[in-house]
Amino acid sequence: MPVVFGSPHVAKVHQYAALLNGTRASPLHGDCKNPVGIEYRAGQDEALHRLKRWSEDETLDIAPGYGLVGDWLPSFRTSASLTVRCRKCGPCLKQRAKVWATRGQIELVASRRSWFGTLTLSPESRFIARLKADAAVSNSARWNDLDDTEQFKEIAKVIRREFQLFLKRVRKQSGARFRYLCTTEAHKDGFPHVHLLLHEVSETRVTKRLLEKQWQLGISHWRLVNNHDHKVPWYVAKYLTKSILAKPVASLRYGRPPLEALTETIGDAALGRSPAPENNPPSWLKSGAVHA
Ligand SMILES: [Zn+2]
Repeated sequence: MPVVFGSPHVAKVHQYAALLNGTRASPLHGDCKNPVGIEYRAGQDEALHRLKRWSEDETLDIAPGYGLVGDWLPSFRTSASLTVRCRKCGPCLKQRAKVWATRGQIELVASRRSWFGTLTLSPESRFIARLKADAAVSNSARWNDLDDTEQFKEIAKVIRREFQLFLKRVRKQSGARFRYLCTTEAHKDGFPHVHLLLHEVSETRVTKRLLEKQWQLGISHWRLVNNHDHKVPWYVAKYLTKSILAKPVASLRYGRPPLEALTETIGDAALGRSPAPENNPPSWLKSGAVHA
């Protein structure tokens, strides 16, 4: 049983998943095939305070002062035992895609306008990316000793770095404020390519020409998307269902409401005091961020 010390992050992530599920919060593992038990410990922590309110549920075990595995904890600390998703099985990958698609929908509606892009690498760029990946691992391993998965991971790292540089250039050239969600997907030949949603927050300064020009490793395709088309984020998120290797990269707090609003909603929903969020959107969703 992995033990998570005092990290509010973990509990908040699970709260968020439960919110998106529209379920009670206790079956935090949802439809996962291999649920994992964790122990969550914290002091005076808002997330844990909320968890305490769910303690009437027998699947959630809360113990003040003492760790559930029998360790002593100072009395101001509390621990909770949760069963959570493995994040690796088929249903977990689907859930991950759902979470990111929902975040995408929230960002899409909130932004001024959004671009959908697909970025690929030319044969020369692939060659160079492979060399860079090879150089990066050369201290610890020989490239040819790595299996396909490990090679893919290393190459994907190089491409993500190039992608960050691309964003930097677009930001500098356009002066635009934008937010983004991108996923790297494995090609049939094992080489990743990138799918991207780029949201212009306030002014519309980014142009197709600029985007094409600044992706310098190969060809990129861009189009503007309809802010109210809730299928659009799935163009990016669907790759997350295919493989654990398809990683999402996004702006800080992408698609997430303020935490206070979140814990409020989740607390009530968990106690069955209000209908599931789907039927009765919380206030932060009502204010312009509801999908049509
Ligand atoms: Zn799972």
